[in-house]
Order: sequence, then C-alpha cells, then structure tokens
Amino acid sequence: MIRARGLNKWFGEHHVLRDVDLDVARGEVVVVVGPSGSGKSTLCRCLNRLETVQRGEVVIDGVPAPLEGRELAKLRADVGMVFQSFNLFQHMSVLDNVVLAPVKVRGASRTDAEKSARELLERVGIGAQADKLPAQLSGGQQQRAAIARALAMTPKVMLFDEPTSALDPEMVGEVLDVMTGLAADGMTMVVVTHEMGFARKAADRVVFMADGQIVEQGAPAAFFDSPQTDRARDFLAKVL
Ligand code: ADP
Ligand code: MG
Repeated sequence: MIRARGLNKWFGEHHVLRDVDLDVARGEVVVVVGPSGSGKSTLCRCLNRLETVQRGEVVIDGVPAPLEGRELAKLRADVGMVFQSFNLFQHMSVLDNVVLAPVKVRGASRTDAEKSARELLERVGIGAQADKLPAQLSGGQQQRAAIARALAMTPKVMLFDEPTSALDPEMVGEVLDVMTGLAADGMTMVVVTHEMGFARKAADRVVFMADGQIVEQGAPAAFFDSPQTDRARDFLAKVL
C-alpha cells in the first residue's frame, strides 16, 4: 500500500531523513518509535506530501505521489492523517467537521455524507456528541472525532502522529481502543506513538528511527525483547 524509497529530506542544512525505505503492506499496522527529533513526524508528512522530499519516491497503492493539483488532493483523501493536536474546525459542529470533506472533495451529497458521518461517530463512540462544538468535548472525544473525520474520506491508509500525546492520561485508552478496532478491521496504518503497550499489542511491525534513519525494525516481540542495536536498547531503557 505504501512504498517509500530512498527518502531524503533537508530543512536548510539539516538532513532530517536519510535514505529512508519503508514498505507497508495492505492491512499492515506499522508502529514508528524513536527519540524526539528523529524524523518520525517528517516521515509521516512526506508520506502524504504535506512535505516534499528532495530525493526519493513515495508510491501509494501503486500510484507515485503527485506534487500538485487534483492528483495531490486525491492522494490526501486516500491517506488520512490524525495529529497530536486534533485540528478540528472549532466553529462548526462535530458532525459538520466529519461531513465537510466528503461533500467538498469527494462530491458526496449532504444527506449521504451526514448518514455516514453519524455512523462513523457511533463507531468511535461519540454519536451523542455529533451536534456539539469541538470545545464542548473532552480531549479524548475530540481526538475520536478527528479519527472519524479522517475515516469519512474512506482512506486507503491512516497515518497517526502521536495521537494520544496531548491527552490527559485517563483519555489515552479510549483513543487507543478506537485505533485497535480499526487495525482489527483491516485498516492499513502507520502510527507514531510513545505508547509501547499499544505497539506491542497492535503492531505487525515496529520501526525504530534515530537521526533520520530507520535503524532497526521487526515484529514487536522481537524488537522489545531482543533489540539488535545499542541505540534501540538505549531508547527502550528510557521508555519502558
Ligand atoms: P520527531 O517527530 O521524530 O520528533 P520531526 O520529524 O518532528 O521529529 O523533526 C526531525 C528534525 O527536523 C528535528 O530536528 C526538527 O527540529 C526538524 N524539523 C522538523 N520540521 C521542521 C521545519 N518545518 N523546519 C525546520 N526544521 C524542522
Ligand atoms: Mg513528531
């Protein structure tokens, strides 16, 4: 579903992604871990072209990621993204947040979009909050609304960039539960997270990044129980 080859990204002089290759199979759940500043967010942003790379190629479901225009809008629709900071439109209801893009980008009718939006909000457990404004919801509910909004575009892949890092601890579980459910339903997912319990349970593969490179990757049990590199061992000693 995703094939990234030889990705290199510089911010000015700063070489932030160094020859990153990443394949994600259909239905696979890849959890990306690593120290702060290692390039995890940049990698996610390059996968859906929120950032461009100076060198390398991203192919989504067989289609090389385009640079601009209608094809780029299509790519963004196919690759859903959920951020640490929810990014809901504050001036519209939760329902309207979910309805907006399917109507504007996919050309869905308001009636159809609203019906599927209500189903999605039920699915993430906040059906009763549909007509409220985001600010009236808890952080965990807002993040679940953001997930519903991304799902409304029927994406082929979902990228999650530290989706629980801004949440109060008691709300982390409800968001991870929704993500675990999505994974069980077969969604292809790339998840950047510090929640090692989630990684161990939900990941098909853990990718460890440091200094802009993929240093090590493997099945969760192998990675957590017998990391192969000093850098992965150091990282795990700090977070576990
Ligand atoms: P992570 O998500 O693993 O914490 P990031 O991908 O956010 O890491 O950042 C990787 C490196 O790139 C960091 O050193 C960060 O300061 C730098 N960086 C990220 N975004 C920008 C930007 N827009 N401009 C300049 N430097 C950036
Ligand atoms: Mg980050």
